[in-house]
Amino acid sequence: MTVIGEEPDTSRGSVRPITVVGNPVLHRPCETVSEFGAELSALIDDMFVTMYGADGVGLAANQIGVAQRVFVYDCPDDDGVRHVGVVVNPVLDELDPARRTLDESAEGCLSVPGAYADLARPDYAVVRGQDKDGQDVVVEGTGFFARCLQHETDHLNGYLYIDRLSKRDRKDALRQMAELTPRYEVQPND
Ligand SMILES: [Zn+2]
Repeated sequence: MTVIGEEPDTSRGSVRPITVVGNPVLHRPCETVSEFGAELSALIDDMFVTMYGADGVGLAANQIGVAQRVFVYDCPDDDGVRHVGVVVNPVLDELDPARRTLDESAEGCLSVPGAYADLARPDYAVVRGQDKDGQDVVVEGTGFFARCLQHETDHLNGYLYIDRLSKRDRKDALRQMAELTPRYEVQPND
């Protein structure tokens, strides 16, 4: 499989419990990162290890309780290309509505364990931000990877994918979650 990006050294990080829907850190915008150093690198290491431990394809910092604008990903697109990396302070490009194609596919989230719902999203996304050293990066995705880039940026803006569902589908997703015990460690809500 073709890999675009740099695979992390997973010997460095440790698994952190994942926050779930209802935890305030998931429901408000995260803060812009302004310091690029050892602390940020350690956070990114933990995020990769936590994502892999939970079999996720993307993870935002607030999903381990850190309100900073950072997400990591290791996600395939629909053409068999695997994308791996980190984006700090991500901003999605606005797409020309005339050229936008929506793809309605199943989506899930480690912070809504066990639930899946169909959600329409543009099948193409561009995210601009920085890497762990503060260098500008542009990440472009199609298909499932475009969905991932939008989903993770949503997280850092304080939104879960279930916030984009109809009332009924949202309720159904929460019911699916209630019926299942997550197979990874979560941070209980008070
Ligand atoms: Zn998520």
